[in-house]
Order: sequence, then structure tokens, then C-alpha cells
Amino acid sequence: MQATIVTLPGDYIGPEIVAQAVKALDAVAARCGHSFAYDERKLGGASIDAFGVPLTDETLAACNAADAVLMGSVGGPKWDAVEAARRPEKGLLALRKGMGVYANLRPCRIHRQLAAACPLRADIAAQDIDIVILRELTGDIYFGRRSRSEDGQSATDEMAYSAMEIERLARIGFELARARRGKLCSVDKANVLECSRLWRETVTRMAGEYPDVELTHLYVDNAAMQLILRPQQFDVMITGNLFGDILSDESAAIAGSLGMMPSASLGDGTRGLYEPIHGSAPDIAGQDVANPLGTILSAALLLRHSLKLEREAAAVEAAVQSVLDAGYRTADIWSEGCTRVGCAQMGDLVAAQIEALL
Ligand code: NAD
Repeated sequence: MQATIVTLPGDYIGPEIVAQAVKALDAVAARCGHSFAYDERKLGGASIDAFGVPLTDETLAACNAADAVLMGSVGGPKWDAVEAARRPEKGLLALRKGMGVYANLRPCRIHRQLAAACPLRADIAAQDIDIVILRELTGDIYFGRRSRSEDGQSATDEMAYSAMEIERLARIGFELARARRGKLCSVDKANVLECSRLWRETVTRMAGEYPDVELTHLYVDNAAMQLILRPQQFDVMITGNLFGDILSDESAAIAGSLGMMPSASLGDGTRGLYEPIHGSAPDIAGQDVANPLGTILSAALLLRHSLKLEREAAAVEAAVQSVLDAGYRTADIWSEGCTRVGCAQMGDLVAAQIEALL
């Protein structure tokens, strides 16, 4: 297949890690006869330096014309003094909005080779944990009205959701569950919140369209507990923006290393934005020590969700496992007895393994 992928390396370690994910995509293309055209653009601080704004209209248009967008990370101390409206993170927020993505997908998988980094009890960490959390991105308390009383001593934040917003997020969740192990857990606080009651009603109504998916509901407080006590019970979880913010960070902590975690932001259609969950790590930039696996695994999500290349996506994930099995580790996940490698070497190892697998 032919595909255009916009790459947005961003700032600090961003260019180092995105280069490794491109190596992985090139290995896939070379073995499977695909043709990926990369359109590299600037985002965040790099864009502020070049154009005075964190996201230009041209870059956004290029992203919306592409099949998928692969991002590194943005921000860092160089732009700390920039006024709020033009900060690097604003570029990312504007990009998500401009691309119309509303579902943030985060897989939570404990890589068995890194089980020691998982804070859960060893017998729980040893179980097969493979969860996808889908967080709604455009509604909820983050976008409602806010107010502060005149004396400054009381404040309100409005939580708002429409059935349409819930439905389009839930649909991605149902479809994903259908393609996986057929289990969908919807997380809300329907015992207290009206928005959550609408959430539950909407999701329950949709379940009729997906008789092959087993739908369950959990209150968010229980879900937070169950993720730690019995994480293996979950397949796909869907939840609102606020609860998802918290639960997806909890799941990242369960998975262990920040450098290993991929993410995808999806909307209508197949175009998506793919990025590791970590930031630009200014403290280690330019030293060839960053862990590129979160970005490489984000490229696997890109292959799966935007290009519909499941076999290739699975090969990238398997290649990462093989390289970890062989004992190679970047500094952040290194432990006694393992071979320490740099960012570029890790990228080469994964690319070579992809070529061997495909
Ligand atoms: P961070 O994720 O950049 O770094 C936290 C710690 O994790 C650091 O010690 C860093 O060295 C380490 N780390 C992160 N990614 C790593 C990797 N791939 N390999 C090895 N080690 C890694 O978080 P921070 O320091 O709070 O933020 C730095 C900058 O990144 C800030 O400007 C922040 O706003 C920005 N940020 C951007 C995004 C994004 O682009 N989506 C997300 C979070 C933070």
C-alpha cells in the first residue's frame, strides 16, 4: 500500500526517538512492499523557533491531508518563558482539535521482561495483562464553564457531555473490543453524576448493536481499585475525559516504564495521531540514551489503526519483545545482566528483527 505519514519530531529527544520509529516503518515497508512517504514538519518549540507559533496552518493542513501522523514530544525549558497562548503544548492541543481526534487510546501491557519495574505484587504482575483504555478527549469538566466567586472563596467547574460525544467514543470501544477479546468495561460515576447516568444509558443502548461484546459497567472508584487488584479481568475500558486522565496514568504506572508506553488519538475515519506518552526529556536529550520503544510501539498502533496493517503491526510488537528477550535495554530500563544500548542502536535492533519476522 501507499501511505503518507506526517512526522512531527518536536523537541529535545523527539527527533531521536521518531527517527527510530521511522526505521521500524521502513523495515515494514521494505519487507512487505509498502511505500510510506514521510512529510516531516515542525511542532511545538521547534515551530516557535522557525515560525513564531507552535503549530502553523500549513502543518495542520498537512496532517489533515495525510493518512496518519507520528509525533515525538514537545516542550521544554527553552520555551518556558514564552507566553501561555504560544507555548509548545498549545501546538499539541490545537493539533488534536484541528485533526478532530476525540478518543485517546492507551494500551497497558506489562512486558514480561520488565516485570520487575511493575509496582504490582509479583503474582499479579505475572498474569497476562493486556488492556486498552479509551479516554474521551473533547468533553467533560475540562471544557465546561468555570467560575470563581467575587471573594475568591468558592469556585465551580461544569461537567458536560452530550449523547453524541459519548456514542462516538463508545463506538470505537465496541469495535475495538470486538476485534480483541470481546469485553468492554464502561467506567463512570452513575451513582452520583448526571453526566455519568447519560453515559451509562447511552452505552447500554448501544450494546444491542454489539451482541458479541460483553458489556460491563464499573464506578470509577471501583475501577481504580480493580486495575490494581485484578487487572487481568479487563480487555477494553472506555471512560470520560477526567476519569480517563487518572486511570490512564494509573495504567502507565502499572505497565512500569514511561519510555515503553505508546498512545493513539483517533477520530472519525482512520486518520490518527500517534505518540509516546512521555514528554521531551530535556535532561537526556542529545545523548543517544532515550528509550525509543514507546515511539516504535506508537508506530505499530499507526500501522494497526490508520493503515489497517494488522500483520505488520503485530510484527513490530513482536520485534520489540524479541529485542527485550535478547536482553537489550536502554538506560531507563536497564538491569543487571542486560546489555545496555543507545537509542539509535535500539532502533537498529528492532528494525533488523522486524525484517527477520516479516
Ligand atoms: P518527561 O516525560 O519528559 O520526563 C520525565 C522523566 O522520564 C525524565 O527523567 C526523563 O529523562 C524520563 N524519560 C521520559 N521519556 C523517556 C524516554 N523515552 N527514555 C528514557 N527516559 C525518559 O516529563 P517532564 O520532564 O515532566 O517534561 C519535560 C517536557 O516535556 C515539559 O516541557 C513537558 O511539558 C513536556 N511534555 C510533553 C508531552 C508531549 O509532548 N505529549 C507530554 C508530557 C510532557
